[in-house]
Amino acid sequence: MRIASGGVQHETNTFASTPTTLADFVRDSDCGPELAGGDVIFARFRDTGTIHGGYIAGAESVGAKLLPLLCARAQPSGIVEQKSFDTMLDWFIGRLQALLPVDGVLLDLHGAMVTEQHEDAEGAFIEAVRHVVGGDVPMVVTLDLHANISPKMARLADVIIGFDTYPHVDMYERGVEAATLLAHIIRGEMKPTQAYRQLPLLTMPPMQCTLREPMQTLMQRVHQLEQEPGVITATVSMGFPFADIHDASVSVLVTTNDDQQLADQKADEIASWLWDLRDELQPDLTSIEEVMRFADEHVNDGLVIFADGSDNPGGGAPCDGTVALQAMIDANFEGGVVGVLFDPETAKQAHEAGVGKTIHVRLGGKTDDKHGAPVVGEAYVRALCDGTFTYHGPMMRGVVDHLGPTATLVIGGVEVVVASHRRQCLDAEMLRIAGIEPTHRRLLVVKSAVHFRADIGALATSIFDADTPGIHRPDFSLFEYRHLRRPIYPLDRKAACQTRINLVHE
Ligand SMILES: [Zn+2]
Repeated sequence: MRIASGGVQHETNTFASTPTTLADFVRDSDCGPELAGGDVIFARFRDTGTIHGGYIAGAESVGAKLLPLLCARAQPSGIVEQKSFDTMLDWFIGRLQALLPVDGVLLDLHGAMVTEQHEDAEGAFIEAVRHVVGGDVPMVVTLDLHANISPKMARLADVIIGFDTYPHVDMYERGVEAATLLAHIIRGEMKPTQAYRQLPLLTMPPMQCTLREPMQTLMQRVHQLEQEPGVITATVSMGFPFADIHDASVSVLVTTNDDQQLADQKADEIASWLWDLRDELQPDLTSIEEVMRFADEHVNDGLVIFADGSDNPGGGAPCDGTVALQAMIDANFEGGVVGVLFDPETAKQAHEAGVGKTIHVRLGGKTDDKHGAPVVGEAYVRALCDGTFTYHGPMMRGVVDHLGPTATLVIGGVEVVVASHRRQCLDAEMLRIAGIEPTHRRLLVVKSAVHFRADIGALATSIFDADTPGIHRPDFSLFEYRHLRRPIYPLDRKAACQTRINLVHE
């Protein structure tokens, strides 16, 4: 049994100013200049907490030969340049054609990629692959929990399997599930029948977290439903709201073994659970001033985290916002850390000066004017490193990644980990390589909305969702949507409430 695998993964923040190019995919994928497949992918992802780690293990467990073609990913950012997307799709298609025939295809996609020409880039990708392999070769697609699943994606894939967790700690399991399910389909042991529902509902990251209520209980119910006779798999996709596209939204998929009525019934059931939670899914934000006060009142109670999700690079934000940092400096707050702040210019300056030197910096606030102004002042260079690390926490465990040349600066009593690559601070190792042991600090500002909770969050005694400005701020009043379909909750609170539903069926 021969199974081709691969894909291009990007979460596109259409409100971000910086476009995404092939160079970003090449740098972040770490698979060489032409994003090599085959052995390069086996070496990079085998035994890691990733989708391809799961594909590899799943395919081996069923005796299938996995043929990885391409695994391209870039940090979430602005709209993907069309020619870059076309180049990567051409690589995938060319490599697939050279390997034909195949018995099945596994596509490792995100589900919220937007290019200059495609609002629904995954729909275009799946369509192109379908065109090459034909309608009879089964295709299982794995997507992020933040996928904006379109009717087209649902129609063209035999099965879509989304992550069940946020933080995304089940990528490996979903990869194994996809590969083994595909093998059952190829052997004729299962006839997947999928129901798709698109809800008139948008939600924001902090409350999409599956470690918190109401999502924790909702996902338990979904897992119980997956155990019912005839049900193969169910996906709740919470959507990516920072995308002004027609199909941005919460959606539901249920796949049964050859039973459309059961799939429809179960999909409607989950959709109604989600709809009933719509008010509970709205976040509650706290200012840095309130959190500093809280940290002062709880000096001996352990680490406090200020989750600066408004500047989360994991959702396309610049990761160089300074609002919390400047407030801590102005308040003469001691024992605070900001991690990780993206500023290659300042990192280079610190590396040129050396450890123990004091440099004059213009730190952060350089990408745009929406995340605070640069912090200007004298900074002491406490530590330097090359920024290479391995994820040790539950998310992406075992993957090697790079912050680029990194400096730990002290400015006005606050430590700042300054990196040359834009990365979400989701693993304690990213701080430890910079000489910071988070449990030995009072207040940590992380450029992350939710993913930090998997590893760093477990070290904290209190966590607050930040009330800061930014293009990833969980606040619908800040974003002007022109392409999104309407009405949608909570933008059109009354209309969507009254009509309840205009669910899209496919
Ligand atoms: Zn995600």
